[in-house]
Amino acid sequence: MKILVTGGAGFVGSHLCKRLLKEDHEVICLDNFFTGNKDNILKLMDNKKFEVIRHDVTFPLYIEVDQIYNLACPASPVHYQFDPVQTTKVCVHGAINMLGLAKRTKAKILQASTSEVYGDPEVHPQTEKYWGKVNPIGIRSCYDEGKRCAETLFFDYYRQHKLDIRVIRIFNTYGPNMHPNDGRVISNFIMQALQNKNITIYGDGSQTRSFQYVDDLIDIMMKMMNNKNGFIGPVNTGNPKEFTIKELAEKVLEMIPESKSKIIYEELPQDDPKQRKPDITLAKKELGWEPTIPLEKGLKKTIAYFRKFVDVKK
Ligand code: NAD
Ligand code: UDP
Repeated sequence: MKILVTGGAGFVGSHLCKRLLKEDHEVICLDNFFTGNKDNILKLMDNKKFEVIRHDVTFPLYIEVDQIYNLACPASPVHYQFDPVQTTKVCVHGAINMLGLAKRTKAKILQASTSEVYGDPEVHPQTEKYWGKVNPIGIRSCYDEGKRCAETLFFDYYRQHKLDIRVIRIFNTYGPNMHPNDGRVISNFIMQALQNKNITIYGDGSQTRSFQYVDDLIDIMMKMMNNKNGFIGPVNTGNPKEFTIKELAEKVLEMIPESKSKIIYEELPQDDPKQRKPDITLAKKELGWEPTIPLEKGLKKTIAYFRKFVDVKK
């Protein structure tokens, strides 16, 4: 099949492109390289079935494809808050353009949505039936509301134009190919520990997150796209093992024993969700999927990846 991956040079997209090539598909990686990186896809360049297009999804695209994975969008709060108007455009105009492409080519299309559609949730763990608690005018809204609107568009194209859609809601995911300065908690803590800098916990560190290793995410993405039981989602994907941010900081320090870093506490950003943990009952039932990689195993691989950046600097 000819498969388009928007945001293909980013963290998740680069893993997806690699896996699709391994399965012998033709892969078109589309990216404007805002947060993505050519290094992430360098090893794929030799493959004749791999093609890269520099393009911004907020503009229409005319190509022929069988499947579309729509990932283009900065995912880290630091990056999506850098140019919030563009973030909303990427979510909304990007979705409209890619849905239009899917409509014209009759391609199946999967949306990389997010646990942020639940906002700062009052329901714990979060099930897909929960509609969320999102601030429409805060600093996270460009991303949260943008992604919510993208879900609306996907379901309206499904109802109105009978498009073959899939929607997954991704909870915090980590692994190699993350941007070392993207400001997300895993990359921050590991880079800080490797460079003997202070480990910056925002707030008192009691807020929780559940961390999914990227390989588990790629498994469910492909299962979701190719399922034959008519299940379109939305479906949660994440690792239900929940950690406080303080526990995460301690785990990272334990795994980098040579680090001289100390934990410090900084102000909690506005609207930072207090707790987050996916209920993955639906993914198990409909797709027979559950994550297999525990935090310690995933962190080991991620730390090894980040060491390369620090070693280069030395
Ligand atoms: P990332 O920032 O590493 O990747 C996003 C990619 O999209 C980058 O390569 C970037 O250059 C590209 N991009 C941004 N704007 C674009 C535009 N206008 N046109 C074309 N390309 C553009 O982030 P990621 O972690 O790989 O996330 C991928 C997708 O998964 C995103 O849609 C994100 O919202 C979603 N997601 C990720 C997580 C996570 O924890 N990683 C959680 C929830 C949802
Ligand atoms: N966080 C932190 N220190 C950092 C970066 C993040 O304490 O250096 C916290 C952040 O406030 C949030 C959690 O870690 O509570 C996860 O943040 P991230 O930016 O990775 O993603 P989010 O889940 O908030 O979108």
